[in-house]
Parts: sequence; C-alpha cells; structure tokens
Amino acid sequence: MTMRTTTIDRSLPEQRGLASIAGPRESVMRVLIVEDEVDLANVLRQALEEEGFVCDVALDGVDGLFNAESWDYDAIVLDLMLPELDGREVLTKLREQKTTPVLILTARDALGDKVDLLDRGADDYLTKPFALEELIARLRALVRRAVHHPRPVIELGEVEIDTVARVLRLSGELVTMSPKEFALVELLALHQGELMTRSQIYEHLYGEDDATLSNVVDVFVSRIRKKLGHGFVRTRRGEGYVIDAE
Ligand code: CA
Repeated sequence: MTMRTTTIDRSLPEQRGLASIAGPRESVMRVLIVEDEVDLANVLRQALEEEGFVCDVALDGVDGLFNAESWDYDAIVLDLMLPELDGREVLTKLREQKTTPVLILTARDALGDKVDLLDRGADDYLTKPFALEELIARLRALVRRAVHHPRPVIELGEVEIDTVARVLRLSGELVTMSPKEFALVELLALHQGELMTRSQIYEHLYGEDDATLSNVVDVFVSRIRKKLGHGFVRTRRGEGYVIDAE
C-alpha cells in the first residue's frame, strides 16, 4: 500500500476538536435488539445509540428472526424468554443461515443453560441484571472477534486505527478525523479486501438506505485521501470502495 501526501495535525487536542471524536461516538456497528420487555428494549436502544451503534428493535422472536435473517447486523442482542418464538429457537434457526455474532440476555444463570446456548451457537451471554457498560464492551469485543481482529487496534501499513479510543494515527501521529470519516475508515478496514458499495457505506454511516444520497460517501472518501494518502482507499469505478488486504 502506498502512502502519499499526509496531513498531520500537531495542534492540541482541544484545538482540533478531538473531544468530539472521543465524545459521542459514531460507529459503523448495526445491532439488532430482540427483547420483549419494552422498557428494557428502549433503555438498551438509547444506551447503544449514545455509543454510536445503529439499532433496530424487535419485540418478539418471530420479528427478531425475520430481521436477523433479512439484514446483515454486526451483532444481535437476544433475550431468551420471548413470545411467539423463544430465544433458543431464534438462535437455532438463525444459525442454519447466518454467523452474525449473538449475545444472549438471560434471567437464568444455570450452568446447563450456558453450555446449551454456546452449543447452539451463541457467542456470549449476560445474566440479567447487567451493567450497560458491560453489554457495550462485550458487543464491541464480539464484533472485533467476528471480523478476526481480536485486538482493538487495526494496523494498515503506517495507519493505526484504534477502534476503542476511536482515534487514528499515521506514522504514530494523531490524525484529525470527523466521526463519519473515522467510521468510514473503520468500516473499510474491518472488511479489508472486500468491495463496499456506496450505498452499503451510506447505510452504515447513517443507518438508513438512501441510494440517492450515496454520493456523499465520495466526499468523505476524498477527505480521507487528503489525510491518509490517495492510495489508502481504492475506487472501483461505478461500484464502490475498498481498502486492499495487506
Ligand atoms: Ca423476555
């Protein structure tokens, strides 16, 4: 990978607005919450959205499974005791089709349950009640594991992407990134070697699918190239963008 022009901001963090990067986080992670207790579902959604996750909520197992099979989520938070179709069945049916990371919420803490759930393909579980911080930390870890980046820092040549602190360094120096720019780089870096279309990128950045607006992605890519070098993100004309696997 070639690195060309680099713009490194050497101003103090407060001058370059770093607080806005480390503050309310914007992230590319899309999460499905399947939880029938409406109050808990709302609390989870709010907490995850404040952390920059984009969330969908399903209030029963049938809707949950439908959503999980229909869309590519980065992770699913799945309650066990659900109307219509319980969490176990949702998990079993989902695993026939998809490997989306699943974190189970359960009121039970019997050892047999945990083993059974892990056998069925759950990736992690939390016993209610739990701390929201723990749920968020575990979700981030699940997503990292799922894309084979167990470490929170992704290294691409001279570029280091710290997905936990949400900062990016080029040759060891912090580079000022807006939250959307960071989210775009993170998305491409997590999917190295895979072509991402403009509309896929737009959907990850904004949580909605609006192909007519997907050219805003070009603007972000152009800003990212000014900061990290033109060769960092490659265009596939008419298709989308890719960061080449090393
Ligand atoms: Ca429940």
